[in-house]
Amino acid sequence: MGLTGLDIYKQLPKKNCGECGPPTCLAFAMALAAGKAELSACPYVSEEAKENLAAAAAPPIRLVKIGTGDEVVEVGDETVIFRHEKTFFHPTGIAIRVSDAEDVEAKLAKIKDLVLERVGQVYEVDLVAVSADSGDPGKFAAAVEKVAQGTDLALMLIGGVEEIRAALDIVADRKPLLYAADAENYEEMTNLAKEKGCPLVVKGTGLDDLAELVKKVEGLGHKELVLDSGNRELSRVLADLTQIRRLAIKKRFRPFGYPTVAFTTKDDPKREVVEASVFVAKYAGIVVLKACEREHLLPLLSWRQNLYTDPQKPIQVESKLYEVGNVNADSPVYVTTNFSLTYFTVEGEVEASKVPAYIIPVNTDGTSVLTAWAAGKFEAEHIAEMLEKTGVAEKVSHRDVIIPGYVAVLSGKLKEVSGWNVIVGPREAAGIPAFVRERYGGR
Ligand code: SF4
Repeated sequence: MGLTGLDIYKQLPKKNCGECGPPTCLAFAMALAAGKAELSACPYVSEEAKENLAAAAAPPIRLVKIGTGDEVVEVGDETVIFRHEKTFFHPTGIAIRVSDAEDVEAKLAKIKDLVLERVGQVYEVDLVAVSADSGDPGKFAAAVEKVAQGTDLALMLIGGVEEIRAALDIVADRKPLLYAADAENYEEMTNLAKEKGCPLVVKGTGLDDLAELVKKVEGLGHKELVLDSGNRELSRVLADLTQIRRLAIKKRFRPFGYPTVAFTTKDDPKREVVEASVFVAKYAGIVVLKACEREHLLPLLSWRQNLYTDPQKPIQVESKLYEVGNVNADSPVYVTTNFSLTYFTVEGEVEASKVPAYIIPVNTDGTSVLTAWAAGKFEAEHIAEMLEKTGVAEKVSHRDVIIPGYVAVLSGKLKEVSGWNVIVGPREAAGIPAFVRERYGGR
């Protein structure tokens, strides 16, 4: 719950009647704090105490879901300011903006092509944000319909109340994110979002205004909210996102206990991606951008993946024998670690060397070569065991194993415990093609 037993005890009736199970209110409070009891077990707890305890136990940033089915995007529910304190849980949703004044089908085709693979992981964008720029509600509704028919990705609708109302007649069941409730329209927009069960962005004109507006929207009974401070200048947005996150987590300031959305402003897609990267780092729940070329999105999606990887659980590949290309009995045998980035870098360079080979990533708990070696996880015995276990000796006619140059120091011991000839490869994977040319050039 995040509350101490004493915090809870202060809210209990202190009758010490034992009807809840434990003999005293204090014992019950301790059981609650440990998650071993339910507040409803006490028949005498006041409504006020129920509310206080529920509010205090709520996550500092609410989890908000956009969309339905497999493509639902979950944002918020973060518990720390810095990733190294624990981890970040819900990756920033990347939304590509499609204007109803542009060629919707052409842009959608590009968005659908944005499925990218890197270090064994598939990256995709998460939302399509359709914006009403044409000034024609009919055109907006038609654009929304085209997008809804063309993709299962979660949707965001950017427009005025009437435009969004018309579009919701078509896509309400997709539970799109509605943008936005502001000082002028918040009653209508909130009632619309509530009626259709859709999450809603609340847009302020600065943080103070935003906090007041959130309270009004909450007062109308809607809590599936996403926050926009309304600022657009990069440094200002960065400051706002940081303040919102700090106030939500450190001060438990409830009006800011929701995920956020940020918009890029630049026309040059490369600059847009830089802006978006800043927002992904700190602390946007959703980033809306126009860029939709693979070369622009790949760095952004890689950056997001790096930030949202649990620092205590680096991404890893399975420790087994991998074949690169059409291997044969003469193929070289490389050993590396099972940190995904290391493995896939080696694999890419082995492929580039054009000499088919075997690669054995030793299980080092997903650490890179030097880190693993320093931690005693990449040792001669360990490597010898993998050579044995993978049965690679039955696949090749030679007994040469190539180890990373950084762990040349393992050579003697590895030869001794495995019986294989140890060849010291390049320090960096980038050196593999030249190393292969020199050593296996004749093949
Ligand atoms: Fe205290 Fe309520 Fe338990 Fe009675 S039932 S001991 S009042 S917590």
